Amino acid sequence: MGERVYIFDTTLRDGEQSPGVTLNVQEKLEIAHQLAKLNVDVIEAGFPVASPGDFAAVQEIARQVRGPVIAALARANPEDIDRAWEALKEAERPRIHTFIATSDIHLKHKLRKSRDEVLELAVAAVKRAKSYTEDVEFSAEDAFRSDLDYLCQVVEAVIDAGATVVNIPDTVGYATPFEFGEFIAEIRRRVRNIDKVVLSVHCHNDLGLAVANSLAAVENGATQVECAVNGLGERAGNAALEEIVMALYTRKAYFKKETAINLKEIYRTSKLVSTLTGMPIQPNKAIVGKNAFLHESGIHQDGVLKERATYEIMNPELIGLPQSNIVLGKHSGRHAFRERLAELGYILQDEELDKAFARFKELADRKKEITDRDLEAIVKNEIRLVPELYQLAYLHVSSGTTIVPTATVGLQRNGTVTEEAACGDGPVDAAFKAIDKITGISNLKLSDYSLSAITGGKDALGEVTVRVEYEGRTFIGRGLSTDIIEASVKAYINAVNKVIYELGEEILKKG
Ligand SMILES: [Zn+2]
Repeated sequence: MGERVYIFDTTLRDGEQSPGVTLNVQEKLEIAHQLAKLNVDVIEAGFPVASPGDFAAVQEIARQVRGPVIAALARANPEDIDRAWEALKEAERPRIHTFIATSDIHLKHKLRKSRDEVLELAVAAVKRAKSYTEDVEFSAEDAFRSDLDYLCQVVEAVIDAGATVVNIPDTVGYATPFEFGEFIAEIRRRVRNIDKVVLSVHCHNDLGLAVANSLAAVENGATQVECAVNGLGERAGNAALEEIVMALYTRKAYFKKETAINLKEIYRTSKLVSTLTGMPIQPNKAIVGKNAFLHESGIHQDGVLKERATYEIMNPELIGLPQSNIVLGKHSGRHAFRERLAELGYILQDEELDKAFARFKELADRKKEITDRDLEAIVKNEIRLVPELYQLAYLHVSSGTTIVPTATVGLQRNGTVTEEAACGDGPVDAAFKAIDKITGISNLKLSDYSLSAITGGKDALGEVTVRVEYEGRTFIGRGLSTDIIEASVKAYINAVNKVIYELGEEILKKG
């Protein structure tokens, strides 16, 4: 048994700050429930003062999610801290996470305050947070670029003020592993009351070193690691949760540390976060990438067949990677369908199950073999919580090398089908324009479009993710079909439905 390392997940806070990522309250709640299943120690649910949406998400998570500590971020000022507490107060185990920068570069240019003033603000913030809850985390933003003497002085003072966790971030991803390890060791040596707190690190991946730096810190006495699923986060992201956890697990004999993570939930969590954030996982990503457990070279394949350990240091089943066997086909019944979904970890309500099963039958007519990954795609893409105000009734496109691409789209709303036709640069563009004509939302801007094949083969299921901008806000839509134009149209309709769901039907009149 090794010493415990606490896993602090910031997917919903720092991860949600990834460029292009935006999650609504329902989606955040769904991720938070999954993080609880993964058994992280702390869920940083958001930054309540940042927006009413952030506040609502933290509040719902605090109300509903049990198990992990629920943390909320607050700058070192009374308004932020009060707001964080307001959102957190119904949590079973609330934590206020307050922060202020300690590096001279931030003090001079951003805060325009002296070191003494910042020290005072830090102490006052911790005391105020402490008046609400026992569990208070303090972060010294840009700690790694701070003067070490001053940083140690701040850390000592906030511990005296009642902080229970002190976090040392490498906010800009500047550190290298050996150096960062030494930095943590030095803080341990110099701060007299350091043993009273959980010492935490928060590393960014600007030089691709976030995981390495975090592990170096653990070797030097850090007992909490802040990380995000799939390495999401500001700029190049945070340390990837799954990599930290699997490094500590696989090299247990070396690190002599333990986490409480339920490894079997890693794959599912990764997929869920990728789907809901619209951030695909690169195929060669460690642990959760599509290729992470595939062996291409004949020599490697031969080795693995003879003895797995020749080329595999981890067993893919350990992280809950479903085996891509053919499981269901067009003659499979509802019972088999429900059973298989349950095995994959999806327990659907009756209504959701009906919808998923209908979608499965439809797909089975067009595709001979339905794999686990197809099933996951159906559940994650089709069974969304956004009401489907508009639904695709039919779609007709004509395109080719010598004609102007045209699309005719029929959308159903409250039982009535409306049809429009439009021309465009391509069939997808034409179809999107036809949809805009029907909804009347004219200032919707498509900012990103991506297509990926969920499964192999000519009848592969295509998944389209679109990002649209509306009045400065981003909405992500997803669609799934063996026909990529249909998948595109479904993704666009999904995004439109989200815009309407979030902003109200009044925008339809506004156009
Ligand atoms: Zn960060």
